[in-house]
Amino acid sequence: MQVYADNAATTKMSSTAIKAMMPYMESIYGNPSSLHSVGQEAAEALYQAREQIANCLGCLPQEITFTSGGSEADNQAIISAARFGARKGKKHIISTAFEHHAVLHTLKKLQKEGFEVELLDVHENGTITAKQVEDAIREDTCLVTIMYANNEIGSILPIPEIGAICKEKGVLFHTDAVQAAGHISINVKEQNIDMLSLSAHKFHGPKGIGVLYARKGIPLTILIEGGAQERGKRAGTENIPAIMGMSAAFCESCSNIEENSKKISALRDKLIDGLSKIPHSILNGDSESRLPGNVHFCFEGIEGESLLLLLDQKGIYASSGSACTSGSLDPSHVLLAIGRPHEIAHGSLRLSLSEWNTEEEVDYMIEKIPEVVEYLRNMSPVWRDLITGKKQFILK
Ligand SMILES: *Cc1c(COP(=O)(O)O)cnc(C)c1O
Repeated sequence: MQVYADNAATTKMSSTAIKAMMPYMESIYGNPSSLHSVGQEAAEALYQAREQIANCLGCLPQEITFTSGGSEADNQAIISAARFGARKGKKHIISTAFEHHAVLHTLKKLQKEGFEVELLDVHENGTITAKQVEDAIREDTCLVTIMYANNEIGSILPIPEIGAICKEKGVLFHTDAVQAAGHISINVKEQNIDMLSLSAHKFHGPKGIGVLYARKGIPLTILIEGGAQERGKRAGTENIPAIMGMSAAFCESCSNIEENSKKISALRDKLIDGLSKIPHSILNGDSESRLPGNVHFCFEGIEGESLLLLLDQKGIYASSGSACTSGSLDPSHVLLAIGRPHEIAHGSLRLSLSEWNTEEEVDYMIEKIPEVVEYLRNMSPVWRDLITGKKQFILK
């Protein structure tokens, strides 16, 4: 059996998205900036895609900028808010310690330029409270940037509450909603979100395309100089096929959120139940406020990387955390942020499900994963020290 359980890293494209893209490669291949009919047909498609996405998010079409993905949208949102704030002498930015690197590395760059970045502590359950944000906001705060849901441990943050506080205090609020968009319902106006990033390949759309939503009136800093595409805020010929695929995938995901979420979270809960029986393990992230497809455990006494390799041999495709940290030897910054010690953080496993996973696949994982964990523990010198009492167990 083969089980793809790495949907937080990327998803398989839906046939709806692929079908929506094909005409824009085969026949309607014009450049939307061209004045002739072939170009204008593409321009019309672009217009409609923008309107559709805006409808799904609850904003205006002119508040949507197409980017190369979630990373670019995060970069542009944060840099724009920082430049806007600095013009008014505001250089304090609030975020959290467990953001995606697209956010953290952008903040680090701004820090070197003289911005003061305050990273809020994340609770052990993988969330923060709106009160923490409220207490951290100062006169000179120009931006609060907090992710909607964490890509490793799946916790969902209280974004509408944080949005309300930022609005009341007059501080710009950006959220990296790459893991949330298409999976939980978002309305930027109702939830008081000023800026939001999303990425198509996390909801069965194509890779290399995303959206930056920025409320009307927020001046965007240009990262890619060139032509006047995207109202002059992002140069380069629009990737029409990808935009059409994203728009189709987003509409499809958003209209099926309830049904999918019910189905996926039932599979998730069954998988969590099954893996919780492994001794000396712990579920990371909040058990209630959690993405429908996220399962994330730490197992004491093993290395996440070896676990992934053995699971791969059994046809189970998983991750030890984010796609960016796996492959490096440093433990995940997310697990360290929620207070997991290094020894525990190294033994992590993320299984991320989609609506295309089945109950049989979940049963297969519940059967195989404990076997592989036991096999690795039996070979591990660390495990020997733990069971002989030379070292103390950290996890019960
Ligand atoms: C995947 C991801 C990104 C990056 O998106 P890309 O489109 O791959 O650049 C950013 N933030 C989060 C939370 C993600 O999961």
